[in-house]
Amino acid sequence: MKVIKYILVSANVLLLACGSLFVFYENGGLIKQVLLTVLFLFFSILNLCSYLYFRRRFINFSSSICNYAENIINGGSVKNIQNKETLSSKAVTELEKMYRIIMYRLEENKKDKKELQKMVSEITHQIKTPLSNINMYCGMLSEKDILPEQAVQFTNIIKQQLLKLGFLLDTLIKSSRLETDMIKLKQANNKIIETLAVAVNNIIYKASHKNIEISVECNPLERAYHDVKWTAEAIGNILDNAVKYTPVNGKIYILVNSGEMYTTIQVKDTGKGIKAEHINDIFKRFYREEDVSGTEGLGLGLYIARHIITLQKGYIYVNSEAGKGSCFFICLPNHF
Ligand code: ADP
Repeated sequence: MKVIKYILVSANVLLLACGSLFVFYENGGLIKQVLLTVLFLFFSILNLCSYLYFRRRFINFSSSICNYAENIINGGSVKNIQNKETLSSKAVTELEKMYRIIMYRLEENKKDKKELQKMVSEITHQIKTPLSNINMYCGMLSEKDILPEQAVQFTNIIKQQLLKLGFLLDTLIKSSRLETDMIKLKQANNKIIETLAVAVNNIIYKASHKNIEISVECNPLERAYHDVKWTAEAIGNILDNAVKYTPVNGKIYILVNSGEMYTTIQVKDTGKGIKAEHINDIFKRFYREEDVSGTEGLGLGLYIARHIITLQKGYIYVNSEAGKGSCFFICLPNHF
């Protein structure tokens, strides 16, 4: 290849030299002119040959690249050429990389599309029930022979269904704003006890209704880098579940431990527990176990809680066994 390059360059240089001599010896003798013409023709032919040679090589190169590209698209192997240190092997490697990236993006798009379809059908399902209830009770309210006490009862049911719709809408907006980074968390080295106080205060009334005792063990000086409002919301969702899925007279323990990198908040309950095969699903959007269909819920509480904690560079996990209660671990960073 290199030799051919030198020949081509030399041919061009000599061609130029002949051209100059031609001009210089324009008025020289016939022999000189004939000699120069012969030389000029010779180098021109050499140039033409090298042009044809390179054109042929280029065509071969392009058609082999096209063949390999086709082979990659059809899922064939291109390993033989990839082991060689040639220009086409480099091009094929790059082509294959590009193909893999495109396929990966296509797969991701497909997954996103499926996820979106699932989400739309879940939201439709969640909205449909309260809407059809409202529709039904509105129809009954408009009947002529309705008794006043029935009217009050139906109106209360409609109010409840409207509250449910409002709650669903609020939760969906919250989760979408968190996902699209529209909510900026204000992380600072805040006291854990203050965040726990906000979360526990919001649940204490609900817990007392089921005679569930909540005990908190936390050093008042314990601190971690977190946003008080949003972390209280995440812990609140976990506490809300602990109350919901724990029978009357149960217990909830909140325990705070500080490690080198993270401070861990444990929320332990004496509730129904989670089956081992569902543990990996409970943090997914809209996921609910079948046995909780009789309990109020949207399947968004843990999804939002995990989102809030991971946005703060922390993490959540759970230890649980069916019938033996659950323990959620919320780990918050000690350093920014
Ligand atoms: P929701 O409580 O509205 O159904 P979540 O996202 O908060 O939705 O929880 C998802 C699922 O995880 C619940 O439906 C329930 O099956 C399970 N789960 C969560 N927390 C607990 C708990 N403390 N005890 C038992 N099961 C729980």
